[in-house]
Amino acid sequence: MTGVRPKKHLGQHFLKDQSIARQIAESLTGHGGYSRLLEIGPGTGVLTQFLLPAPYEVFVAEIDRESVAYLKENVAELEGRIIEGDFLRMKGELLPESPFAIIGNFPYNISSQIFFRILEMREQVPEVVCMLQREVARRITSPPGSKEYGILSVLLQAYYDIEYLFTVDKSVFLPPPKVQSGVIRLRRNEVETLPCDERLFKSMVKQGFQNRRKTLRNALKPLNLPEEVRQDPMLDKRAEQLSVKDFIDLTQKTERLWNK
Ligand code: SAH
Repeated sequence: MTGVRPKKHLGQHFLKDQSIARQIAESLTGHGGYSRLLEIGPGTGVLTQFLLPAPYEVFVAEIDRESVAYLKENVAELEGRIIEGDFLRMKGELLPESPFAIIGNFPYNISSQIFFRILEMREQVPEVVCMLQREVARRITSPPGSKEYGILSVLLQAYYDIEYLFTVDKSVFLPPPKVQSGVIRLRRNEVETLPCDERLFKSMVKQGFQNRRKTLRNALKPLNLPEEVRQDPMLDKRAEQLSVKDFIDLTQKTERLWNK
């Protein structure tokens, strides 16, 4: 026993199964040529122990004081590499030198926010391997046309090649979460910047999915798109039917007309 009490408000579900921790660690491919890893939410280090012997320098970001105290006492290799605090608020200078991969059994209550933060840091992060609730894992990996496809699917798929790796049963956690878990891998693609205004692209995606049952013509009304765009047959569709490329095309067309 580690003496660290699992805390619900921090989304703590500690992995009991060593072989799954190993499998997650082994899912890193080194894509993009990084030498540093940042583990989000190491807890008592179940996953960390499989990262340390790898050819990487391991840093961890942990908010729970009790877990931090445990790691300081028990994992000598992490000396000077424990970043204590809320990952969502960590400023760039606290994080490892770029590039670094992100790995972790994420706190499920904030997994979407973690991905929005990763999107902001995408230039520094060539690979992500993580476990999160299966529903969100599926959403992120699902293709256009499916019910699960949403804002994070489009935004992440614009910059990363994403794979669903495997499902993990509730029973291997202490305490068991209410839902099943999934492990996914994201590898940064070749796209440096989208061939369109990225802010407008993001607004289109967000606004489009805000009312995902409406046609885009209705859902995008607040953006006051040019008449010619509003007439586009693409706007008869719903956001969930559009690929990343479709959203880019729509953004380009809007820009062109606005700039005329
Ligand atoms: N990796 C461990 C623990 C996973 S539980 C294991 O697999 O057993 C999720 C972990 O994320 C917990 O340790 C929790 O304290 C930590 N955590 C929760 N919110 C966090 C945040 N905002 N920033 C950093 N760590 C956080």
